[in-house]
Amino acid sequence: MAYDYDLFVIGAGSGGLASSKRAASYGAKVAITENDLVGGTCVIRGCVPKKLLVYGSRFSHLYEDAVGYGWSEVEPSLNWQKLIEAVNTEVLRLNQLHISFLEKAGVELIEGYAKFIDSHTVEVGDRKITADKILIAVGAKPEKINIPGIEHSVTSREMFHLKEQPKKMAVWGGGYIGVEFAGILNGVGTQVTQIIRREQILRGFDQDICSEIQAGMIKHGIEIRTNTTVEKVEKVSEGLKLHLSGENAEPLIVDTFLCATGRKPNLEGLNLENAGVETVKGAIAVSANCRTNQPNIYAVGDCIDKKNLTPVAIAQGRAFADTEFGNIPRTISLENIASAVFSNPEASTVGLTEAEAREKFGDSIKCYRDKFRPMFHSFTGADEKVMVKMVVESNKDRVLGVHMVGKDAAEIIQGIAIAVNMGATKADFDRTIGIHPSTAEEFVTLK
Ligand code: NDP
Repeated sequence: MAYDYDLFVIGAGSGGLASSKRAASYGAKVAITENDLVGGTCVIRGCVPKKLLVYGSRFSHLYEDAVGYGWSEVEPSLNWQKLIEAVNTEVLRLNQLHISFLEKAGVELIEGYAKFIDSHTVEVGDRKITADKILIAVGAKPEKINIPGIEHSVTSREMFHLKEQPKKMAVWGGGYIGVEFAGILNGVGTQVTQIIRREQILRGFDQDICSEIQAGMIKHGIEIRTNTTVEKVEKVSEGLKLHLSGENAEPLIVDTFLCATGRKPNLEGLNLENAGVETVKGAIAVSANCRTNQPNIYAVGDCIDKKNLTPVAIAQGRAFADTEFGNIPRTISLENIASAVFSNPEASTVGLTEAEAREKFGDSIKCYRDKFRPMFHSFTGADEKVMVKMVVESNKDRVLGVHMVGKDAAEIIQGIAIAVNMGATKADFDRTIGIHPSTAEEFVTLK
């Protein structure tokens, strides 16, 4: 049977864009559909605008730090509207850039919401479109917890469009998004309270990373209400009153309440059942090569809920296109993927946490750890520390995990991730001569 397209991609975010362009480069006839701005979560309402806000928020500390180096004191003030406008202008520039990349690659962009009619047919608006292969790359969206008054909260999506800088803000959730926004708002001078249901933020990260970031956030003035949760949100004349329960349950009055309690795959309305596509726990079920239970339908990125990071979605999308259209069969390993939390202090990590390594290798684990004041802070008077940690399997001397909290952690760990992926040993690190003076050299001198 002749189809309208060789490949139809649903969702023009990181995974969808990468796979559609790669498939087209092999001569496939490709269309992609998007019902929002082309670019997806990362470009439009995630990583990119978030990182720009992180940069914007860090100047307050730099002004203070400069004084120790002889610069005169200034009383900095932030024009929030200007910052938000600049971020959104950049987002729109990138959106246009991605549209032009699609054009250049020969991928047809179809605006609208795609719904499955059957396993080879989708409906977008009043168009029925058939395709040999279909790739679902619809991402995920924030999920609010259903408590009374939750409609008064915002999600990360709205944070990029707040007309005014919050004066007092509460953040609910201790994951990446909650921790990063708490740092951004604290940096621009908002009074921030973070509410987490456990003792510590960032479940799943190495214990030392969690403790160091949490201690750093508290030092910067963020109040963290641990073992506490939100029961109800009430609109009152001063703003929003949060009724809490748990260890630190005094009610809290804020003007902005960010609900950052997790995300879920964006599958509503896709009519997956019409195509017979299986889901597990609300995510699309796929095999190692990202194929669903339907032989011609694939899925990549956050909608499969495996490792929800932009570069992973891109890698999965390209591997799919190489395999199916380029005759280069390959799959992506989800091991040793480096990631960062752009909190303040920043953290980055690759490989196993100490707890994961101990579970896998028992007593044959050796950890090397150091904590020190970075040279930059010699004159600033700031109580800032860097923590570096290496988890090693002592029988083979193999480095299983590397973790860091401190300035430029993401930039440093990215390079180290190559060594870890190549199977580097502690001796390989030790043999490497350091760059002096630098923070990163600590990784080759750990004792
Ligand atoms: P996460 O799942 O990482 O964190 C959700 C937080 O909300 C956790 O602290 C969780 O607590 C808490 N929570 C969940 N349910 C409840 C509840 N019923 N009551 C109280 N608290 C609750 O979600 P995020 O939204 O922060 O991030 C989503 C994904 O986005 C991440 O997995 C990450 O992959 C990606 N991301 C990556 C970034 C990066 O690479 N820098 C930045 C931002 C997002 P508990 O731990 O106890 O379950």
